[in-house]
Amino acid sequence: MTTVAAYAAPAAKAPLERTTIERRAVGEFDVLIDIKFAGICHSDIHQAREGWGEAIFPMVPGHEIAGVVAEVGSGVTRYAVGDRVGVGCMVDSCRECDNCKAGLEQYCTGGGMIGTYNALDRNGEPTYGGYSHQIVVDENYVVRIPDGLSLDVAAPLLCAGITTYSPLKHWNAGPGKKVAIVGMGGLGHMAVKIAHALGAEVTVLSQSLRKQEDGLKLGADHYYATSDPKTFEELAGTFDLILSTVSAPLNLDQFLSLLRTDGAFVNVGAPEEPVALNLFSVIMGRKSLAGSGIGGIQETQEMLDFCAEHGFGAEIELIAASEINEAYERVLASDVRYRFVIDTATI
Ligand SMILES: [Zn+2]
Ligand SMILES: [Zn+2]
Repeated sequence: MTTVAAYAAPAAKAPLERTTIERRAVGEFDVLIDIKFAGICHSDIHQAREGWGEAIFPMVPGHEIAGVVAEVGSGVTRYAVGDRVGVGCMVDSCRECDNCKAGLEQYCTGGGMIGTYNALDRNGEPTYGGYSHQIVVDENYVVRIPDGLSLDVAAPLLCAGITTYSPLKHWNAGPGKKVAIVGMGGLGHMAVKIAHALGAEVTVLSQSLRKQEDGLKLGADHYYATSDPKTFEELAGTFDLILSTVSAPLNLDQFLSLLRTDGAFVNVGAPEEPVALNLFSVIMGRKSLAGSGIGGIQETQEMLDFCAEHGFGAEIELIAASEINEAYERVLASDVRYRFVIDTATI
């Protein structure tokens, strides 16, 4: 065991504070990572404040981890000391179910994936996330950060990047496809960049036009305010795919009316309450209402390689660990362009 510095929430809704945690000894197939940067994901806040149900405390959030390999176990073959690596939302899964074998570890049916934090590992010990100096992870749940990507802008790709890349690929965003991205936050701004790089015609649907200039600069072709009722008249029946990145409840019937026949509305943002829907909204036009959760390990690697090839990471605001609590408030107020990343040297 190693004692490492971390920032943790001691209890639900309590401010995060500096503390120390124990990391397990490096096992045969483990990689010890010196964490350099950790992104702040909206779901860190949901979990630290028990918005998604009972959680494990103290909690060290952080599942957008970028760092450098410091030590490897004797059986590790994929990584060596000095490699630039990342860890996303999961650190293990059963490895035996159909989904795990198919590279869909995030949908593991053999007990579920083991979250990077706020979960129990195979030994029943709580997992602690990226707001810390080091982490020990099985090599099968580690990905490589390509040389072309700096670690600070790569960190948010490990959740925001893969969460949007996976559905955009699955629902065939590409040339000739009209894709709308709902929300221009941490996930939304990555969705715009990725959908544009995939060759789709990209429209942002945001509450206001406040971030229009950024959206167009990041690759959107069109930008509309959903607070303006004319938007829904003008865009009726337009899109092949709508990807919603917002966790606020939406008027689904209104958004489904923007799909063409056979179009799909896909949620990656999750409201805390159940939503209502008139099923005629999907019956007429054979439309799909779907969801998608992060992506598998292999697909996460593919996404990182794709972003490096196209020369982009996330748009970030780099902060010191002492600013985490303030950053949480700013995320809740949508006051970040577009992802906070913690310089973990400041922990
Ligand atoms: Zn996340
Ligand atoms: Zn499994």
